[in-house]
Amino acid sequence: MCGKEYSCDEAANLCECGLPLYARYNLEKASSLLKREDLKGRVPTMWRYHELLPLKHQENIITLGEGFTPLFRAERLGSALGCDRLYLKDESMNPTGSFKARGLSVAVSKAKELGLKKLAIPSAGNAAGALSAYASKGGLSAYVFMPKDVPSAFLLECQILGAEVTLIDGLITDAGRIVAERKEREGWFDVSTLKEPYRVEGKKTMGYELAEQLNWELPDVIIYPTGGGTGLVGMWKAFQEMEEMGWIGRRRPRMISVQSDGCAPIVRAFLEGKERADEWQNAATIAAGLRVPKAVGDFLMLRAIRESGGTAIAVSDEELLEGVKLLGKMEGIFGAPEAGATVATLSKLREGGLISQDERIVLFITGSGLKYVESLRGVTL
Ligand SMILES: *Cc1c(COP(=O)(O)O)cnc(C)c1O
Repeated sequence: MCGKEYSCDEAANLCECGLPLYARYNLEKASSLLKREDLKGRVPTMWRYHELLPLKHQENIITLGEGFTPLFRAERLGSALGCDRLYLKDESMNPTGSFKARGLSVAVSKAKELGLKKLAIPSAGNAAGALSAYASKGGLSAYVFMPKDVPSAFLLECQILGAEVTLIDGLITDAGRIVAERKEREGWFDVSTLKEPYRVEGKKTMGYELAEQLNWELPDVIIYPTGGGTGLVGMWKAFQEMEEMGWIGRRRPRMISVQSDGCAPIVRAFLEGKERADEWQNAATIAAGLRVPKAVGDFLMLRAIRESGGTAIAVSDEELLEGVKLLGKMEGIFGAPEAGATVATLSKLREGGLISQDERIVLFITGSGLKYVESLRGVTL
């Protein structure tokens, strides 16, 4: 936004103007070195796009097999909701059971390349598990801060993966304040969503994969559960990069952001026509990854949603649980509540006539339901 440039050989968080840094590549060179056809036969992980990721030396890559997740045709769920061409991108198959693995594989790999040793993260759950896993694999230390009412599987996972965990009385934003206060004294590098430049780079690979898996023709609609927004923002960035490399044309999917009505700052800002989103008070939802009352990348999400001709929608916890059940019953996937929210949203948009029957739609199943069993215990089956 302010135009200031930073070197990718030095660790950086936000720009001095207070906004996120964006990694920029020499796309002309990338497109001369890498053709779409070259991808065939490459590793079935997101590192198949390594020319478009920020590592300088491939030996620094810390991988547990993340990305290149299946894109399933959802015929039964589609026919229940009146959609002829419905697909599910099953991110629950990632290491640690969510798409957070993508961002943290890149962020921890780059941190290692830059010689950083101690990484700290405020998290609603899945990001903490993913940081813990990649830090463990790479031999770095992870310091994790989560709300004390986080589902217990997230806590146990981080502990088993060797992280130092602190539970705090508050939300992810409060955890973020604690990391910010203590990081200098403790020598931690802060890997909060969009406060370091590379998690979004990992998440953008979802956009590359969608294009590759759909034979370089993007879908009409993407429905995505948004918290901090790296997934949505990352895919939007990927589409731009692919267009600049001549891999895809100008057409873009409508980006639909889904939140819970117990914490919907982006939906509110979208409806009010605002560029930034005010902090949501008393955020509450069982979809832990959506309990993000304030995001540094709010303006990037809002811009992507608007430029794409998409929209932002809030669903209730009851509705998203119905979505989890329908997904499970129809498609054989036990999804996280956040994923259930995309099913509930599709149902609403079809009823409202905002999506037509023959459009090509992709729902992002961002995580597995297995870590949320206690939140799901009360569900009537
Ligand atoms: C973090 C998370 C989200 C929200 O993702 P963002 O890219 O941060 O907006 C959605 N679903 C699950 C399962 C998550 O863990």
